[in-house]
Amino acid sequence: MSDIENTPVQVKFADFGLAPEILRALTDQGYVHPTPIQAEAIPILLQGRDVMGAAQTGTGKTAGFSLPIIQLLLAHANTSMSPARHPVRALVLAPTRELAVQVAENVAAYCKHTPLRSTVVFGGMDMKPQTEKLRSGVEIVIATPGRLLDHVEQKNISLGQVQMLVMDEADRMLDMGFLPDLQRIINLLPKKRQNLMFSATFSPEIKKLAGSFLTDPITIEVARSNATAEKVTQVVYKVGEEHKRDAVAHILRQRQLKQVIVFSNTKIGASRLARGLVTEGMKAAAIHGDKTQQERMAALDAFKKGEIEVLVATDVAARGLDISDLPAVINFDLPYNAEDYVHRIGRTGRAGASGDAISIYSDKDERLLADIEKLIKQTVPRSTLEGFVPGGFRSDERHGDRRRDRTQADRSAPRGPERRDGARGDGPPQPRREKVDPWFLKPYEPTRNNGTLAAAAPAAPAKPKQKVAALLGGLPKG
Ligand code: AMP
Repeated sequence: MSDIENTPVQVKFADFGLAPEILRALTDQGYVHPTPIQAEAIPILLQGRDVMGAAQTGTGKTAGFSLPIIQLLLAHANTSMSPARHPVRALVLAPTRELAVQVAENVAAYCKHTPLRSTVVFGGMDMKPQTEKLRSGVEIVIATPGRLLDHVEQKNISLGQVQMLVMDEADRMLDMGFLPDLQRIINLLPKKRQNLMFSATFSPEIKKLAGSFLTDPITIEVARSNATAEKVTQVVYKVGEEHKRDAVAHILRQRQLKQVIVFSNTKIGASRLARGLVTEGMKAAAIHGDKTQQERMAALDAFKKGEIEVLVATDVAARGLDISDLPAVINFDLPYNAEDYVHRIGRTGRAGASGDAISIYSDKDERLLADIEKLIKQTVPRSTLEGFVPGGFRSDERHGDRRRDRTQADRSAPRGPERRDGARGDGPPQPRREKVDPWFLKPYEPTRNNGTLAAAAPAAPAKPKQKVAALLGGLPKG
């Protein structure tokens, strides 16, 4: 993407003294000016300093750390066929398969004119192709922690020559329970190395982790909440709780949105909404932690290709997805955690582009909206949905009885980080308690329909529960 004209920093990549091979790759990408985080991070990293970066996906942080890594490793670049001449020198750890793949794609693009080799390893896939790649020698490895340790155990990779370590989305890695894995990995690395850590939030745990493995770090903070939101036009529409799905369908139709992420607070809610939108004739699919990685990647690919126009996602599933040029995001539910609102609307208006963040809320969500406005220090404009006639959502007629069954099903659903409901005792309204319908006890299953993903497969058999970390790209072990 190239919204470079809108980027406030007007230095050029050429000003950093990057190698011509790297500059050529950036030209191929259409980048001319660095984003603010790149402008700050690149010179510091080139000096070999440790960095603690407060930056979210969408700020250009990947190039911010990848370019200096490539530049610094160029000193070792060689075209030898011997694996021994290509030891792992830079390690990037990411919480999810999707993020790992995105980072790897970026790194591969930026080193394509150099002899440096890079690869990605993540869980939930056959280890063999990854093993072959690792054993042939590769300087830059992007990995999810669990799978990396699997390769270490099988002696497919040696980390003894790593000179640069990146922890991307460190907060999410901690949320997903990767701390012990991270500690094991760090223990395998040489003591002397350059460390980078990126996190969107700074909990005491993150600060502790940073304190334990960064040496005299420079903190870079870019595009925090409000700055990100500036390019995004926000609006909220109040509707009756029972008309929220109607409202989403109406907005999608009225604005003719073709590439949009709709956020749902629950996995069940995401599946139901996607299912209903498909019934309405829309190209929609849900993406959340109950789905296998293959399903999630298939949905993501289809979305990127435009075969799916509406991706209904939970926060965890959406986190780290590099889907650029989104014209809009829709909050079907206001998030229970106000910070998630900022993450969500950061999906649009990325790297300087403008976008719309549209939220639906009902009476019971007033407090959530107030929390969000307090956090972003601005009032989100209220508006009314023109031409909206509630009650038109066809799936309501077919599945009207299921609406009452939602919460029981949520309780029965596998627990994971996205189960935020009721997490704060003082805060948000609790989900309603209702009776169960077996459909909601089953994990969401997509079906293939004329080569595209459809959102619903009600009769799919329940799959055995998997650990959330595994579903998100972390494990699996044993
Ligand atoms: P990231 O935050 O690293 O996921 O990057 C977000 C998006 O911005 C990706 O689609 C990148 O390809 C794009 N991007 C990164 N750096 C630049 C740049 N300097 N100019 C324009 N687009 C960029």
